Amino acid sequence: MGLLYEGKAKQLFEGPEPDTVIIRFKDSVTAGNAAKRAQIAEKGTLSAAISLKLLELVGAAGIPTHLLRWLDERSFLARLVEIIPLEVVVRNRAAGSIVRRLGLERGRAFEPPLIELFYKSDELGDPLLCESHIQLLELARPDELQQIKRLALQAQGILKAYFAPLQLELVDLKFELGRVKGKIILADEISPDTMRLWDSETGQSFDKDVFREDKGELGATYLEVARRMGVR
Ligand code: 5GP
Repeated sequence: MGLLYEGKAKQLFEGPEPDTVIIRFKDSVTAGNAAKRAQIAEKGTLSAAISLKLLELVGAAGIPTHLLRWLDERSFLARLVEIIPLEVVVRNRAAGSIVRRLGLERGRAFEPPLIELFYKSDELGDPLLCESHIQLLELARPDELQQIKRLALQAQGILKAYFAPLQLELVDLKFELGRVKGKIILADEISPDTMRLWDSETGQSFDKDVFREDKGELGATYLEVARRMGVR
């Protein structure tokens, strides 16, 4: 099994069939462009189980994703996609970087949800992009960008509605999308590493902010999300 790419939280291997890849979740967690890092037992298996369930959920609602099938407790098989180097962030409330950048009050609601696009580039620190930058850098065509935003908004709506009865509010999340035979599909993971979830009653964080801001034990946090989702 050839390693194609080693990321901060995942490894990518050649798949057993043409045009497939194996995505394997590691137990590592990083924040601040890997300035802060740790190993957390069970994080990989928990993120894999959560991600699989959420990709299945949006897939079942008709949104094309890269997920093909579950392989083992920390890996799934996915379609090989040409990743578009954009981080598509959808926000229902202000938290994280938008609070720092725009001086907004944390928790301020956005209705409709706000979309921001960032350049996926570790060297540049994932800068915020204007649509004119996206055209300048030829990251996506205007029609693709419309499709990317439509899919991201639809997927976040499905996920927000799924989490609400679990007493978890979807505050924001980040999608990555890619091309397969000219079609745009959802790729990457959907897990508490890539979204903010706040307990609807207490406002407590159930996501990577627990690690970023030293607010508690990350393994126990992800386990609680997995339990509420019924995947543990
Ligand atoms: P922010 O822009 O506030 O840092 O992030 C907004 C949302 O997107 C958060 O849910 C955050 O977890 C996710 N996000 C943004 N950039 C990244 C990234 O580079 N890696 C991961 N795992 N999540 C990100």
